[in-house]
Amino acid sequence: MDTRIGTHVDGPDPSARHGSDHIGGDSRDLNFFRADAGLRDLLRLYLGADEQRHFWPHFDRLGALAGGDLDRWADQADKHPPVLHHRDRFGRDVQWIEHHPAYHEMERIGFHEFGLHAAPHRPILGWPTGVSPLVKFTLHYLFSQAEFGLMCPLAVTELAAMLVLRYGSEELREKYGRRMISLDPAELMQGAQFMTEKAGGSDVGANELRAVPEGGHWRLQGEKWFCSNAGCDVAVLLARIDGDPPGTAGLTAFVVPRDLDDGSRNAYRIVRLKDKLGSKSLASGEIAYEGALAYMLGERRQGIKILLDQVNMSRLSHGMRAAATMRRAWHESLAFARSRTLFGKPALRQPLMRRQLLQVLIPAEQALSTSCYGADVLRRSEEGSNTAAQLLRIITPVIKMRSNRDNVQVTAKAIEVRGGNGVIEDWVNSRLLRDSFIPVLWEGTSIINSIDVVRRAIARSQAQGALRAELHRLLAEAEGVPAAYRNRLAALSDRAVDYAEKVAAHPDSEKHARLATSALYHALSAVLLAWEGDRLGRDGGDARRLLMSRFVVEHRLDPPPALSMPTDAWEDEAGEWLLGEAPVPLARAADLVASGAN
Ligand SMILES: Cc1cc2nc3c(=O)[nH]c(=O)nc-3n(C[C@H](O)[C@H](O)[C@H](O)COP(=O)(O)OP(=O)(O)OC[C@H]3O[C@@H](n4cnc5c(N)ncnc54)[C@H](O)[C@@H]3O)c2cc1C
Repeated sequence: MDTRIGTHVDGPDPSARHGSDHIGGDSRDLNFFRADAGLRDLLRLYLGADEQRHFWPHFDRLGALAGGDLDRWADQADKHPPVLHHRDRFGRDVQWIEHHPAYHEMERIGFHEFGLHAAPHRPILGWPTGVSPLVKFTLHYLFSQAEFGLMCPLAVTELAAMLVLRYGSEELREKYGRRMISLDPAELMQGAQFMTEKAGGSDVGANELRAVPEGGHWRLQGEKWFCSNAGCDVAVLLARIDGDPPGTAGLTAFVVPRDLDDGSRNAYRIVRLKDKLGSKSLASGEIAYEGALAYMLGERRQGIKILLDQVNMSRLSHGMRAAATMRRAWHESLAFARSRTLFGKPALRQPLMRRQLLQVLIPAEQALSTSCYGADVLRRSEEGSNTAAQLLRIITPVIKMRSNRDNVQVTAKAIEVRGGNGVIEDWVNSRLLRDSFIPVLWEGTSIINSIDVVRRAIARSQAQGALRAELHRLLAEAEGVPAAYRNRLAALSDRAVDYAEKVAAHPDSEKHARLATSALYHALSAVLLAWEGDRLGRDGGDARRLLMSRFVVEHRLDPPPALSMPTDAWEDEAGEWLLGEAPVPLARAADLVASGAN
């Protein structure tokens, strides 16, 4: 059964409860597609009709798997992390990484059945061509509600393949690129990308790995410090050719296979696997290159430009993955709050619990809106729109930064919702919190993404103009939203863009870059939620997203002065709607966003 707010568990009648009946429930065996009205509404808005028709049953199947088998396997793989072996049973020095069988089951679903690693590059799931960005991200979103760790190998294989297919010679494309997008387990080559070294993660230009020419190829000498999917078949990495300048301008991209043409192993060693806080099913290692054979990818000294193609795509996917983890935190929280009795009534009816639930729900929906919209902007940019390319330039690091920071807070709040069981590893909550920390660091920390917004997207590329115009365009289209609320959103959007411009204009203001980036994210999400609520409501659907927009405004963009008593009668009714199943009529949502405004 499709649901609006996504839970299926009320638990036994409270008066008949005894012993274990009292324990609050979880979202196990929920279909994560059917339980996600927000996602289905956004797909109707942003996805073409043909793709909707075709992929609906596939989303439905992945949603069922994610709430069921995938989730069970993810739990097992998390508790049995990969192990690095240095020799085979004959005593030969052949390294291999042993994964728990549950991990291989998840690989079967992700790589071979759904082709998540191949989605934009070739036909999958009966669709005749590569799929649009939103179909791909929806698959990421459903999969990562169960398993975050394997999502990395799926995504890096897709993006390493993109680089090999885009920049590689005919030989590299045929030898590696073609096999990196194969669905056939016997043929598939998994990929990875390695930039970070001991000297530089954020400061990649400080890297020390050397590339030395040898007979038309290159030999690598040095180390990489963080290598996810360390046992991959083909890695794309950055190294400096002897004599090339220091800094990022001197870096070149290379393709490094694990196995050579004669079947022997390439000359590198996985020194060890990292024992890390989260995404434990993923093998992240340190690698020492001892004369490993490498092929140049693209042109010499163009490495950083080439790898940034990958980084930007990955940042957007991380917005969707943050939305996924937060959605899972929401399912858990709601299932618990409906089934747990506290002081004689369901936890869901306690005022402060309702507030906490909304603090889980709203950031999850902000991330979902901005990511679905980001996928649509990416599609328009790939189709040749310069405006979309400008927009994408600024919204990509904005979405990556704020959604992943929110994720940490939301998964922590969801732990508190569950009480003591929230930190017990029988339940998924602690895994969600542990996993949520990792992507804050990937593809640039929140500091690096915020600096990218102000220094490069604004100061260098002037992309904020496209964002300002887009926010006003969306508001002008939202005809069912009261003028007073639209004007308020327009003024707040201008204030956020003006502030980011001021921060970008003064190098001394860099310390405010994160605040500026957060303000842009909240302005973008508040406007999108209003626009989406209006569109859905005017089509006779559920306008609840318009109510969410006001929560973003009142709590993130334009909060009342500290310790004042806010005029928040609207919020009690809006909370009733958002925590209930009934669709919200547009007229009621419109009244509520305009009433008692500060
Ligand atoms: C589990 C895991 C797997 C990973 N897998 C990979 C992988 O497969 N491939 C890969 O290339 N990398 C990988 N990474 C590395 C990751 O991308 C880096 O950790 C990240 O880029 C940060 O680099 P760093 O660790 O060297 O920290 P540093 O760059 O030393 O940063 C330390 C701190 O300084 C801050 N900082 C940096 N610059 C500035 C500045 N200008 N102003 C103010 N503060 C600043 C950072 O935000 C951070 O808070 C992985 C990391 C983890 C945790």
